[in-house]
Amino acid sequence: MNGRAKAVAAINQRKPVETTLNYKDTYSIDRFGANVFSMTVMQKRLPKDIFKSLKKTVDNFTRLDSDIANVVANAMKDWAIEKGATHYAHVFFPLTGATAEKHDSFLVPDLSGNAIAEFSGKTLIQGEPDASSFPSGGLRATFEARGYTAWDVTSPAYIMENPNGATLCIPTAFLSWTGEALDKKTPILRSMQALNTQAQRILKLFGDNSNKMVSSTCGAEQEYFLVDKLLYGLRPDIMTTGRSLFGAPSPKGQEFEDHYFGAIPDRVIAYMFEVERELYELGIPVKTRHNEVAPGQFEIAPVFETSNLATDHQQLTMVTLKKIAKKYGMECLLHEKPFAGVNGSGKHVNYSFGNASQGNLLDPGDTPHENAQFLVFCAAVIRGVHKYSKLLRAVVATAGNDHRLGANEAPPAIISIFLGDQLADVFEQIKKGGAKSSKQAGILHVGVDALPPLPKDAGDRNRTSPFAFTGNRFEFRAVGADMSVSGPLVAMNTIFAESMDYMATELEKATKGDPAKLNDAVQKLLKKVIEDHGAVIFNGDGYSDEWHKEAEKRGLPNLKTTPEALPALIDQDVLDLFAKYNVLSNVELHSRYDIYIDQYILKMTLEAKTVIEMADTIIYPAALRYQNELATTFLKLKELGVPYDDSLLKEISALVKNLKDGVANLSKLMNGKETDHLKKAKACAAKLAPAMKAVRDAADKLEAIVSDDIWPLPTYQEMLFLK
Ligand code: ADP
Ligand code: MG
Repeated sequence: MNGRAKAVAAINQRKPVETTLNYKDTYSIDRFGANVFSMTVMQKRLPKDIFKSLKKTVDNFTRLDSDIANVVANAMKDWAIEKGATHYAHVFFPLTGATAEKHDSFLVPDLSGNAIAEFSGKTLIQGEPDASSFPSGGLRATFEARGYTAWDVTSPAYIMENPNGATLCIPTAFLSWTGEALDKKTPILRSMQALNTQAQRILKLFGDNSNKMVSSTCGAEQEYFLVDKLLYGLRPDIMTTGRSLFGAPSPKGQEFEDHYFGAIPDRVIAYMFEVERELYELGIPVKTRHNEVAPGQFEIAPVFETSNLATDHQQLTMVTLKKIAKKYGMECLLHEKPFAGVNGSGKHVNYSFGNASQGNLLDPGDTPHENAQFLVFCAAVIRGVHKYSKLLRAVVATAGNDHRLGANEAPPAIISIFLGDQLADVFEQIKKGGAKSSKQAGILHVGVDALPPLPKDAGDRNRTSPFAFTGNRFEFRAVGADMSVSGPLVAMNTIFAESMDYMATELEKATKGDPAKLNDAVQKLLKKVIEDHGAVIFNGDGYSDEWHKEAEKRGLPNLKTTPEALPALIDQDVLDLFAKYNVLSNVELHSRYDIYIDQYILKMTLEAKTVIEMADTIIYPAALRYQNELATTFLKLKELGVPYDDSLLKEISALVKNLKDGVANLSKLMNGKETDHLKKAKACAAKLAPAMKAVRDAADKLEAIVSDDIWPLPTYQEMLFLK
């Protein structure tokens, strides 16, 4: 038996569920937030005035008074030690998209040879990880490599449990000593402030003077695959690059669509229960779980939270999905396209904004006044998406996501907005200046007439649109499964802040402080926005060829690969945008661009290296073995004078040659001398990718004819269906 056959046998003998949770004595929901140093815990443990000051910081994103840090640190330490913590960690989110942490123990030796537990305000607020190996895109010279981490008071500290101990985790921003952001968290906080500032101006025009912070909200639906660990262990490609670089299609794919919302296998559901239990304890409100379209694919979604929290929680969700899978003998794949020919994984980012006095501001509401305000915010979104569609494409550009956006899969690389029939019709009427329309009799006067009821029904949605209105929020569907939601949220917050700035300015000019003039001013402004930016609205089938042609006519960009998409990050209008709203300086944005281009090159190069190694050391030897078997048999048959058909041997020999030629070609391309990073990235897309594909084509054809007991790599069928 080869390793693959042994793995399959072991999986088939696996006991149903290896780990059990005590869910009867401890109801999962009772554990919600159990490991979080939450507002409630702080209120109990902190002196009143200190709690009040801290709460103000959290609610309004203001600066933390450093005098109170010591008191907070002490309370936090006592709480953590009661929970079994021995260490604390500053958790930060470098530009690799990963979650990073540096652990320190509370232990401090005293002079008499004993030790005490210590955790000062200073260590709470600021840490110094040796961060020289995190990418900075030239922001730090290596001799001054140390960045520092700063506590993000708006995201609560929490305990991470391990069978052998617990760690107090402190969410932090990661900055260079000169104050430049080196991470994914800092710009989220800055962009939320920008959005709030501009949204307040619009709210004031509509008479909301509450000054309650307007925060963007995010609910991210995470898709993922589960593969048995024993099979995963035999796939160097999936282990090192996250996706299969080889693999013939399985006879049964997803064509029966019998997996979607089907019964969840027992081992998987046991896993989901434990993931959810752990996320509940971390205060992450996970709510939805189901099978996804592809076999072996699943989804988890939380209840939405403010963007800053949602970003941290999404990151923790990914870490937890991966960690717990191992306990159940599985590996969780977050790659956007682990299996060719099978649906990829996205992360639908549901997005809105709201405040404590009015709730969700993208909810149409019941009165004409509320509707008018809704239409202004909605138009701000339409304008932003149109004006900065290249930016929105750039923030979802990664090597992995190219397999979805650039390929024939949902959603396309063209950024457009789906509004739904009713809302599209409303804007159509506004554009025509209130002409009669087919959908709704009569004339719509903004602020006077009510909107038609907009459906909030999931059945009515257009699944092919990258950016869809779903009744009371927008859903950005182009985000990849493996990405941090930070980039997309930062981009949305900032472009909508800019749009709101524009709209508020226009309305302020037109009304000159006279509320009676508002309705007219809104009607005129909406008309203008829809005339200028309505081209981005598309309600049809985003996959169709007609749309690609139509989009081109409308001047909507169609940037298929990461190297085509990323340069938008340093377009002058984007540099100006981020600088104007103090979200990212030109230097910070340039460093991000450099890092993302480099990451793309690294990823593509890693894939190419893995293709070469697997072709040479796994696939070629297997093919030779079978070739030898056939050749030996045929020789014997020849000796015996028995007729035989050697076409298979010829076919294999030809494919082996293709495989070898393909590898030689790929190796040659790897030795390119190009030093310009963008050119190099473009060559990866234009040359390296097809060269990898050529090797794969030969290998996959071999897989289809080489004897099954010789083929060493777990097949698509085994990886997708064995649970
Ligand atoms: P579907 O798969 O039908 O799109 P799900 O129920 O799986 O819907 O996910 C919807 C997501 O949208 C959830 O995470 C939900 O909390 C989130 N959501 C709902 N309202 C808002 C809002 N106002 N802002 C951001 N996200 C929201
Ligand atoms: Mg969903």
